[in-house]
Amino acid sequence: MKFADLHLHTQFSDGTFTPEELVLRAQNSGLACIALTDHDSVEGCGRAAAACAAVKMEFISGAELTAEHDDTEVHILGYFLDTQNQVLLERIARFQSVRQSRIREMVAALNRLGLPLRAESVFALANCKSPGRPHVARALVKEKLIASLDEAFERYLKKGRPAWVPKTKMSALESVELIHQSGGLAVMAHPGLNRTDEIIPALVDAGLDGIECFHTKHSTVMAERYLEIAEKYRLLVTGGSDCHGFSKNKPLIGTVKLPYEHVEKLFAAKKSDDEKRRAAGK
Ligand code: AMP
Ligand code: ZN
Ligand code: FE
Ligand code: FE
Repeated sequence: MKFADLHLHTQFSDGTFTPEELVLRAQNSGLACIALTDHDSVEGCGRAAAACAAVKMEFISGAELTAEHDDTEVHILGYFLDTQNQVLLERIARFQSVRQSRIREMVAALNRLGLPLRAESVFALANCKSPGRPHVARALVKEKLIASLDEAFERYLKKGRPAWVPKTKMSALESVELIHQSGGLAVMAHPGLNRTDEIIPALVDAGLDGIECFHTKHSTVMAERYLEIAEKYRLLVTGGSDCHGFSKNKPLIGTVKLPYEHVEKLFAAKKSDDEKRRAAGK
């Protein structure tokens, strides 16, 4: 049996592995295919693709776009993205810049709360264009201003806590369009995580291609429900561990195993999309 893990983060967002380390771990977990899905970034895809090619592992270039619909945050996975697509790169750059300003705002809030953290420490630790709250949490722990990452989120960084800062996001519909114009397939990430089922029909109307049924935080019952939803709306089925390396806990890569029939359907959908685009002269 062949399996895939299609939801993985590296140092190019808030994961701790380099693309090469990630591929090595994927190999050791016996995976036949992986997708890289860093938050609002495709920067690691080139290196991950090269590392996968070297060990004959299938690779899908992707990203996890932070979006919103009706004031609810929703993460949209883009698969088979053209990582050189200028429109994609420009849009992503804008959201990376929002992420960087937000780090400064969160640090300012922490300073007002009496924690002497410097934004530069967070940027140095993050060392990427797409920094996020986990980097702030890690910097707080590193500087011994707080005991654990969990405590950092619970006391300060979780939505509604005193150092939480909302970020400007693209709309979910826009993110689907952006993924499509970059040659990709748009997949709703971990719908069970934030209970966003009611927005699925609107995303389907906007052209959503798939739904992440299998995820670390989905129970078996949840996965079954999303498989039913996928069938109802004729959506592709994906799954992944959402591994962040050592950022949150232990590395999760390979703990969610997507059966290959779904991977094959994903590749077939990409092929058929490309053929349609070619026929339309695009
Ligand atoms: P951001 O993109 O800056 O909003 O940060 C989102 C990242 O923080 C995601 O990878 C989440 O999994 C992670 N995250 C969100 N809430 C928590 C939490 N309570 N504890 C640990 N990590 C979290
Ligand atoms: Zn993350
Ligand atoms: Fe996510
Ligand atoms: Fe993720």
